[in-house]
Amino acid sequence: MNKILLIIIGLLFLTNSNLWAKENNYLKNTLLVSNQLKLTFAHKIKRVKHFTIKKSGVIKHVYDIKNGLLSSGKTIKNLKAKGVKSIRIGQFNKNVLRIVIESKYLLAKQHRLKNRTLTIYLPAYNKVLSSKKVKKKRLYKKRHQKLIILDAGHGGRDIGASHRNIIEKDLTLSMTRKLRDVLKKMGYRVRMTRSTDKTMRLKERTDYANRYKGNIFISLHVNAAPKKRTPNVRYEGITVFYLSTKNIKKRLRKRRTHYKSKKRYSEKAAQQMISQWKSRHSKSLAIKVRKNIFKHLRKYYSVNDKGIKRQGFWVLLATTMPSILVETGYISHKKDLKRLQNSNYQRRLVEGIAKGVNSYFGL
Ligand SMILES: [Zn+2]
Repeated sequence: MNKILLIIIGLLFLTNSNLWAKENNYLKNTLLVSNQLKLTFAHKIKRVKHFTIKKSGVIKHVYDIKNGLLSSGKTIKNLKAKGVKSIRIGQFNKNVLRIVIESKYLLAKQHRLKNRTLTIYLPAYNKVLSSKKVKKKRLYKKRHQKLIILDAGHGGRDIGASHRNIIEKDLTLSMTRKLRDVLKKMGYRVRMTRSTDKTMRLKERTDYANRYKGNIFISLHVNAAPKKRTPNVRYEGITVFYLSTKNIKKRLRKRRTHYKSKKRYSEKAAQQMISQWKSRHSKSLAIKVRKNIFKHLRKYYSVNDKGIKRQGFWVLLATTMPSILVETGYISHKKDLKRLQNSNYQRRLVEGIAKGVNSYFGL
């Protein structure tokens, strides 16, 4: 007896679910709003099959709705939208309602199924997405108006700081090249005071920057702890420098005698060197670069932040544009040294600097 009862229940269940599966789902409403095609049915939509067919430059976007039925039985083809060649809603067979959208463009977003409503995003809607591309292009163009002078510290006979066979001039060149590549990819124009291993005087570097009228100047160096270490000072991590005008007259006089330069040049240079505009912008550049270095680099590494410092370095003094000098780490520090030799670390570090440059320009 029990077995028979179970079979009867089972049969009932089967016929019932079968009935459900065959239930007609009439299309109640078709709405074209802000480049979204919204189709509302009498019941919950169970399944939508979506595929595309490409044919001679036109893409057919097909949406099949199981059990879908047109109330009138007549194919709908009077719908018009931007970027769309045609929209057709018709009966594919007695069990399937088919929507075909013909367009030259791909529908970037997938359709959305919510209860009784199917929303299809039409190409024109995707203009919002493509506007991102336009923005990127515009940004690239704006960045292309900026010239960045990069200075790889030391070079040639001047090896800079060293630890065994690892020398500063090689590290700075490697990092500067990476920074050039990152900046160029972003859209900036870049010039390097040296892109090979050559000896260059400081004045040659600043003359180069001034001759090409760079918008900003960035010099990369590697630090080393002094022989006589000050107690409680941590000789590890990154320092960003910008110009200190302290003792500037004294420094200038020293330089002038050193290079035997004419007084007139020096006066003009002095004006430029202590220009308030340059000071303000160098400070801003330093702040932004430091902030972005750590924001970016600390996603991957724990790095010591030595902060922003002011110095009267010649390259900061004699450049006519906003300028900074980044001491990228200590060659004398075990962890710093290991990282400075690591290509990935170098890349992350210069990415941070480049982001700082973007932030400085507001681009
Ligand atoms: Zn150096």
